[in-house]
Amino acid sequence: MIRTVANWKLNGSRTFCKQWFKDFITHFAGDLSSVAIAPPAIYIPLCKELSADEISICAQNLDSLHGAARTGEISLEMLQDLNCNLSIIGHSERRHLFGETSNIIRDKLLKAAKPDFTAIYCIGENLAEYEAKLSFEVISEQLNSELFSISKRINVFLAYEPIWAIGSGKLPSKNEIELMHLHIKDLLLQHKNINLLGIFYGGSVTEDNCIELSQSDAIDGFLVGGASLNGKSFAKIASSFA
Ligand code: PEP
Repeated sequence: MIRTVANWKLNGSRTFCKQWFKDFITHFAGDLSSVAIAPPAIYIPLCKELSADEISICAQNLDSLHGAARTGEISLEMLQDLNCNLSIIGHSERRHLFGETSNIIRDKLLKAAKPDFTAIYCIGENLAEYEAKLSFEVISEQLNSELFSISKRINVFLAYEPIWAIGSGKLPSKNEIELMHLHIKDLLLQHKNINLLGIFYGGSVTEDNCIELSQSDAIDGFLVGGASLNGKSFAKIASSFA
């Protein structure tokens, strides 16, 4: 089962990919099937080749349509054409920088609801909501308007990513993460359409904090941004779940 996902965001080159895989393989101690890499879509074929199909390759995003006038987008059909059956959906950067609303995310989840496809669905509260102690309400509302409103069975890893923790070096406490994951799990288990594969934490995970977090029964894995760009660092993080 996948436990650690690298989100490279808008980083990489052919040279970067080759060096990254060398560094990662040298320093990773564990089962390669527990790891997924989300490179920019243009590097998916190269990463598939470099991973020799042992590491899952994940898209960072997908469009809910195919064969449409939507310049710059990538469809699920195109990903599957490359044997890529995994995609992040609803990352906070897509929501905030690219205007992806709850309706758009819901359409993407509906599209991804296929027996041979898995979504890594991201949710999280912002700093004002966290400080106002509204995190539980915000997360429940996001789930209600997005994941719970789709009518088809979906394979999903849920990534809890507080927006204020992404790239900031600040994290909720381990206890806060655990309580939120248990809350999310309770809600998800009430929906028979949801095949929950695990609940990941994302937001400023590093080599320094991964061991403590990975020891929690409530944290099934990590979604890692910044620290995933270094193959050696990411190998250490991924090894914490090995
Ligand atoms: C992310 O963008 O999903 C993320 C978790 O980023 P970072 O690890 O850099 O906080």
